[in-house]
Amino acid sequence: MSINVAVIGAGPSGFYTVDALLKDDKDVRVDIIERLPTPFGLIRGGVAPDHQTTKKVARVYEKTALRDGVGYYGNVEVGRDVTMAELREMYDAIVLAVGAPRDRKLGIPGEDKAGVFGSADFVGWYNGHPDFTDLQPDLNTGTVVVIGQGNVAVDVARVLVKTPEEMTDTDIADHAADAIKASPITDVYMVGRRGPIEAKFTNVELREMGKLDDCQPVIDATQLPDQVEGEWSDRDKRLKDRNLATMKEFPDVDPAGKSKRVHFTFYAKPIEILGGDKVEGIRLEHTRVEDGRSVGTGEFFDIECGLVIPAIGYFSDPFPGVPFDADNGIVVHDEGRVSDGVYAVGWIKRGPTGVIGTNKPDGDIAATQIFEDIAEGTKPGREALEALLAERNVRCLTYQDWQTIDAAEVAAAKLGAPRRKFVTIDTMIAALD
Ligand code: NAP
Repeated sequence: MSINVAVIGAGPSGFYTVDALLKDDKDVRVDIIERLPTPFGLIRGGVAPDHQTTKKVARVYEKTALRDGVGYYGNVEVGRDVTMAELREMYDAIVLAVGAPRDRKLGIPGEDKAGVFGSADFVGWYNGHPDFTDLQPDLNTGTVVVIGQGNVAVDVARVLVKTPEEMTDTDIADHAADAIKASPITDVYMVGRRGPIEAKFTNVELREMGKLDDCQPVIDATQLPDQVEGEWSDRDKRLKDRNLATMKEFPDVDPAGKSKRVHFTFYAKPIEILGGDKVEGIRLEHTRVEDGRSVGTGEFFDIECGLVIPAIGYFSDPFPGVPFDADNGIVVHDEGRVSDGVYAVGWIKRGPTGVIGTNKPDGDIAATQIFEDIAEGTKPGREALEALLAERNVRCLTYQDWQTIDAAEVAAAKLGAPRRKFVTIDTMIAALD
């Protein structure tokens, strides 16, 4: 009998797992169970709307979704529509590929003030993720502080300062495009607790900051060392050399005609978010780097701002029915094995690091483990799932339903844009009716 596998989550790690399971002509059927009506996880909801080339990988996932033996159950939430215990009865193996959708907390006073939005929420908002459509960040401020110097911080800063013309060929949600266009934002501070060499952004993303139509990258050249010092792997050293060279070019970017600035603010760690109920500023402490760590100098400074966006990394939600490592924000597992017949891949396994392709080996490992652990299927798989969802009147979407939604979004696109996103689950489903 076929081995029946349920992959929970239709993001990159989920699709790479499906692909790996189908690679060797084994007798396997794979069902993808996805909470949203739409597939592709961070490709749709996380990758910046102006990085359309990155989003093209979804075409590869589509081929996987349409292969024989693959089922897609969209708009089905484990824990709400079906429990983990029920899935264990139905499937020989279950793979958790649910990512890390929450923001890590800064853990400083004032973090709960209005006007502080973690990057997971803020990025979800501008990407039209239905969970964040109603976020309504108040962008009526001249200055925004983004905390962190990873690629997400760069994405957020860039999306806030690009001109509407620069965003024409993107799939930014209408509500976000309108709010950013109407906002008086002129200055975005991107604050790192360590220095330019330790910053986590990669070079392509950094270089984009020097090529914006209406924004000047501001950097204190005296903070840039002559060369990259310290112990780095060859790969990291090459990246850091390139980043340093790019940052050295920033003071030469012609400011003429540019009305906005992104300030690369190094050696500054957040101490307190200032204001009453609403953010009015942020207090930072100057730092120096000792043995790679950021150490406060005891000197403080404030930046007045109306919006603070911590982009300091993500965290997984505890997943119902499996043990959770709350300190690290990942599921408890042994090299990906969670418990009998349950496996983890992607960010819920490894934590929120790496690029999209980093998920591929996770899928290979999970498939290998599944075939090592399970010689033959004994459970009914999709027929049982379909019967249960029908009994519960769950409005479950097929991959063809997603293709209908996709076509409707593409058909509604404004001139030059790839699509116009539906931003609520109701409107997505209404497109089918
Ligand atoms: P990240 O690369 O880990 O960067 C997090 C940043 O937050 C770092 O600068 C970190 O500083 C800082 N930080 C963490 N805790 C902090 C604290 N308590 N106070 C102040 N600063 C703090 O994470 P990310 O930007 O969320 O990105 C997640 C992953 O997705 C990364 O692997 C990234 O490369 C990837 N990604 C890639 C792209 C792309 O390829 N275009 C786009 C988006 C995301 P320290 O270094 O000092 O810890």
